[in-house]
Amino acid sequence: MNARSRPRISCPARGLEGATAGRALGALGGAAVGKPWPEGGLRGGGFTLLELVVLVATVAVLVSVLLSSLARAEHKAQDLRCLNNLKQLGVALRMFADEHQDRLPEAEPLPALPIDPAHRLPRLCDLLAPHLGYLTNAMPTTHTVLRCPSDKAHRFEHNGSSYEWNALYSGRPIEHPRRSRNPPREAPLIFDYDNVHTGATNDSKNVLFADFHVDTL
Ligand SMILES: [Zn+2]
Repeated sequence: MNARSRPRISCPARGLEGATAGRALGALGGAAVGKPWPEGGLRGGGFTLLELVVLVATVAVLVSVLLSSLARAEHKAQDLRCLNNLKQLGVALRMFADEHQDRLPEAEPLPALPIDPAHRLPRLCDLLAPHLGYLTNAMPTTHTVLRCPSDKAHRFEHNGSSYEWNALYSGRPIEHPRRSRNPPREAPLIFDYDNVHTGATNDSKNVLFADFHVDTL
């Protein structure tokens, strides 16, 4: 077959689509091997409805798995940032005690709801502020170690801190928790107000203990 008798075929991408392209390819295949392709060529070049449904369902499952993994990673990052906050609060507590005859702060556990409104105690955030590099009553509203990244109940905004001070040790010598019945590594000093972190089996709090290690309860 010389060049003149060869069938002229236009480019499918430019001139033919779908079934038309399939028929053109069928014609080309027939010319090449001597037998025609089935009518419609490559199934019309599209998806069946069932294939489309399966494809959409598969993509939906993959997106769901991806979003779930991202959410878990975000929660884990928030857990770690909170534990780091508590470590820094532990350092500030020791600095406070160094300057106050080795005594722990005497502070309200929940400043928004004082134990005795007639004799309300200072907020922990104000007592520790100088040891955290903040000016009292002029603390930053974001990215502060007093704000837990998982604080969704706005405890920070209402109390100046996302963390509760354990009133049992208010104003006590820093060695007091070490002498109490609880071993220091089991005596909680500061902890999340709410169960906002990922525990081994359920939601839990992060805690700074009297030996100044931090953990999730
Ligand atoms: Zn927290």
